[in-house]
Amino acid sequence: MHIPHRQCIACRSRKPKQRLIRIVRGGSAGVRLDRTGRAQGRGCYVCPRTDCIVHARKHDLVSRHLRRAAPPQLYQDLAEFLAALQPRPRQSFLGLAVKAGKTVLGTEAVRRSVKTGTVALVLYEPQASPSTVQRLTAVCRAAGIPALPYAGALPLDQAVGKPNCKAAGITDRQLAQSLIAEHE
Ligand SMILES: [Zn+2]
Repeated sequence: MHIPHRQCIACRSRKPKQRLIRIVRGGSAGVRLDRTGRAQGRGCYVCPRTDCIVHARKHDLVSRHLRRAAPPQLYQDLAEFLAALQPRPRQSFLGLAVKAGKTVLGTEAVRRSVKTGTVALVLYEPQASPSTVQRLTAVCRAAGIPALPYAGALPLDQAVGKPNCKAAGITDRQLAQSLIAEHE
Protein backbone atom coordinates (compact mmCIF):
# COMPACT_ATOMS: atom_id res chain seq x y z
CA MET A 1 0.00 0.00 0.00
CA HIS A 2 1.39 3.40 -0.94
CA ILE A 3 1.41 5.99 1.82
CA PRO A 4 2.19 9.59 0.85
CA HIS A 5 4.96 11.08 2.99
CA ARG A 6 5.72 14.71 3.80
CA GLN A 7 8.52 16.47 5.61
CA CYS A 8 8.23 18.34 8.91
CA ILE A 9 9.52 21.92 8.50
CA ALA A 10 11.08 21.80 11.98
CA CYS A 11 12.81 18.42 12.44
CA ARG A 12 12.86 17.61 8.69
CA SER A 13 11.86 14.00 9.23
CA ARG A 14 9.62 12.46 6.59
CA LYS A 15 6.42 10.88 7.83
CA PRO A 16 3.10 9.64 6.48
CA LYS A 17 1.03 12.70 5.65
CA GLN A 18 -1.74 11.86 8.08
CA ARG A 19 0.76 11.89 10.92
CA LEU A 20 1.65 15.53 10.33
CA ILE A 21 -0.25 18.76 10.82
CA ARG A 22 -0.81 20.78 7.65
CA ILE A 23 -0.60 24.56 7.60
CA VAL A 24 -1.96 26.30 4.54
CA ARG A 25 -1.69 29.71 2.90
CA GLY A 26 -5.04 30.06 1.26
CA GLY A 27 -6.64 33.13 -0.24
CA SER A 28 -7.87 35.93 1.98
CA ALA A 29 -7.82 33.78 5.12
CA GLY A 30 -4.03 33.98 5.06
CA VAL A 31 -1.81 31.47 6.84
CA ARG A 32 -3.80 29.11 9.02
CA LEU A 33 -4.06 25.62 10.40
CA ASP A 34 -5.58 23.22 7.88
CA ARG A 35 -7.72 20.94 10.01
CA THR A 36 -8.85 18.82 7.08
CA GLY A 37 -5.38 18.42 5.55
CA ARG A 38 -6.97 19.08 2.16
CA ALA A 39 -7.54 22.84 2.02
CA GLN A 40 -6.54 24.55 -1.20
CA GLY A 41 -3.37 26.55 -1.31
CA ARG A 42 0.33 26.22 -0.64
CA GLY A 43 0.90 24.05 2.40
CA CYS A 44 3.63 22.95 4.78
CA TYR A 45 3.75 20.29 7.47
CA VAL A 46 4.83 20.03 11.07
CA CYS A 47 4.88 17.09 13.50
CA PRO A 48 2.15 17.00 16.16
CA ARG A 49 4.86 17.59 18.76
CA THR A 50 5.42 20.58 21.00
CA ASP A 51 9.16 20.49 20.20
CA CYS A 52 8.60 20.88 16.47
CA ILE A 53 5.96 23.57 16.82
CA VAL A 54 8.10 25.59 19.23
CA HIS A 55 11.10 25.26 16.92
CA ALA A 56 9.02 26.32 13.90
CA ARG A 57 7.76 29.36 15.77
CA LYS A 58 11.16 30.37 17.11
CA HIS A 59 12.70 30.36 13.63
CA ASP A 60 9.57 31.57 11.87
CA LEU A 61 9.73 28.55 9.56
CA VAL A 62 6.08 28.68 8.55
CA SER A 63 6.45 32.19 7.13
CA ARG A 64 9.59 31.14 5.30
CA HIS A 65 7.96 28.06 3.75
CA LEU A 66 4.69 29.73 2.82
CA ARG A 67 6.24 33.11 1.95
CA ARG A 68 3.74 35.00 4.04
CA ALA A 69 3.78 36.02 7.69
CA ALA A 70 2.23 33.48 10.05
CA PRO A 71 -0.07 35.23 12.57
CA PRO A 72 0.26 34.53 16.33
CA GLN A 73 -3.24 33.01 16.12
CA LEU A 74 -1.75 30.12 14.13
CA TYR A 75 0.37 29.05 17.07
CA GLN A 76 -2.54 29.26 19.43
CA ASP A 77 -4.57 27.06 17.08
CA LEU A 78 -1.68 24.62 16.79
CA ALA A 79 -1.36 24.33 20.56
CA GLU A 80 -5.09 23.69 20.90
CA PHE A 81 -5.10 21.23 18.04
CA LEU A 82 -2.22 19.34 19.63
CA ALA A 83 -4.01 19.13 22.96
CA ALA A 84 -7.15 17.82 21.24
CA LEU A 85 -5.15 15.20 19.35
CA GLN A 86 -4.28 13.17 22.40
CA PRO A 87 -7.48 11.24 23.10
CA ARG A 88 -8.27 10.15 19.55
CA PRO A 89 -10.88 7.44 19.03
CA ARG A 90 -8.68 5.05 17.07
CA GLN A 91 -5.95 5.33 19.61
CA SER A 92 -8.27 4.62 22.47
CA PHE A 93 -9.80 1.73 20.51
CA LEU A 94 -6.42 0.13 20.14
CA GLY A 95 -5.55 1.13 23.70
CA LEU A 96 -8.77 -0.51 24.81
CA ALA A 97 -7.87 -3.73 23.01
CA VAL A 98 -4.47 -3.72 24.71
CA LYS A 99 -5.98 -3.13 28.15
CA ALA A 100 -8.55 -5.87 27.58
CA GLY A 101 -5.79 -8.33 26.72
CA LYS A 102 -7.10 -8.70 23.14
CA THR A 103 -3.79 -8.00 21.43
CA VAL A 104 -0.54 -9.72 20.61
CA LEU A 105 2.34 -7.24 20.52
CA GLY A 106 5.66 -7.34 18.69
CA THR A 107 6.57 -8.56 15.20
CA GLU A 108 7.66 -12.08 16.14
CA ALA A 109 4.71 -12.74 18.45
CA VAL A 110 2.33 -11.43 15.78
CA ARG A 111 3.88 -13.64 13.08
CA ARG A 112 3.48 -16.70 15.28
CA SER A 113 -0.15 -15.80 16.05
CA VAL A 114 -0.93 -15.29 12.38
CA LYS A 115 0.41 -18.78 11.64
CA THR A 116 -1.72 -20.34 14.38
CA GLY A 117 -4.74 -18.25 13.34
CA THR A 118 -5.25 -16.59 16.71
CA VAL A 119 -5.42 -13.02 15.40
CA ALA A 120 -8.18 -11.49 13.26
CA LEU A 121 -6.30 -8.36 12.20
CA VAL A 122 -2.73 -7.14 12.11
CA LEU A 123 -1.75 -3.48 12.40
CA TYR A 124 1.81 -2.56 11.60
CA GLU A 125 3.91 0.57 12.02
CA PRO A 126 4.24 2.22 8.56
CA GLN A 127 7.65 3.59 9.60
CA ALA A 128 9.02 0.10 10.25
CA SER A 129 11.75 -1.13 7.89
CA PRO A 130 10.47 -2.32 4.49
CA SER A 131 11.80 -5.84 5.11
CA THR A 132 9.91 -6.09 8.42
CA VAL A 133 6.71 -4.90 6.75
CA GLN A 134 7.21 -7.24 3.81
CA ARG A 135 7.85 -10.32 5.96
CA LEU A 136 4.84 -9.57 8.09
CA THR A 137 2.39 -8.80 5.28
CA ALA A 138 3.52 -11.92 3.36
CA VAL A 139 2.65 -14.14 6.33
CA CYS A 140 -0.71 -12.39 6.72
CA ARG A 141 -1.49 -12.72 3.02
CA ALA A 142 -0.72 -16.44 3.12
CA ALA A 143 -3.02 -16.86 6.12
CA GLY A 144 -5.78 -14.63 4.70
CA ILE A 145 -5.58 -12.22 7.62
CA PRO A 146 -5.87 -8.46 6.88
CA ALA A 147 -2.76 -6.41 7.62
CA LEU A 148 -3.09 -2.62 7.69
CA PRO A 149 -0.56 0.15 8.24
CA TYR A 150 -1.47 1.78 11.55
CA ALA A 151 -2.91 5.22 10.77
CA GLY A 152 -3.24 6.80 14.21
CA ALA A 153 -1.86 10.18 15.17
CA LEU A 154 0.83 8.60 17.33
CA PRO A 155 3.30 5.92 16.27
CA LEU A 156 2.05 2.41 16.94
CA ASP A 157 4.45 1.75 19.82
CA GLN A 158 3.16 4.80 21.69
CA ALA A 159 -0.45 3.87 20.97
CA VAL A 160 0.02 0.42 22.52
CA GLY A 161 2.43 1.58 25.22
CA LYS A 162 5.24 -0.80 24.27
CA PRO A 163 8.51 0.82 23.12
CA ASN A 164 9.71 -0.22 19.64
CA CYS A 165 6.62 -2.31 19.01
CA LYS A 166 6.20 -2.50 15.21
CA ALA A 167 3.15 -4.72 14.99
CA ALA A 168 -0.02 -5.48 16.90
CA GLY A 169 -2.36 -8.40 16.31
CA ILE A 170 -5.99 -8.08 17.40
CA THR A 171 -7.38 -11.36 18.73
CA ASP A 172 -10.96 -10.16 19.21
CA ARG A 173 -12.96 -10.46 16.00
CA GLN A 174 -15.41 -7.67 16.79
CA LEU A 175 -12.72 -5.23 17.82
CA ALA A 176 -10.85 -6.14 14.64
CA GLN A 177 -13.94 -5.28 12.57
CA SER A 178 -14.29 -1.91 14.31
CA LEU A 179 -10.65 -1.09 13.65
CA ILE A 180 -10.97 -2.11 9.98
CA ALA A 181 -14.07 0.07 9.63
CA GLU A 182 -12.16 3.02 11.08
CA HIS A 183 -9.41 2.56 8.54
CA GLU A 184 -11.83 2.86 5.63
ZN1 LIG B 1 8.99 17.40 13.29
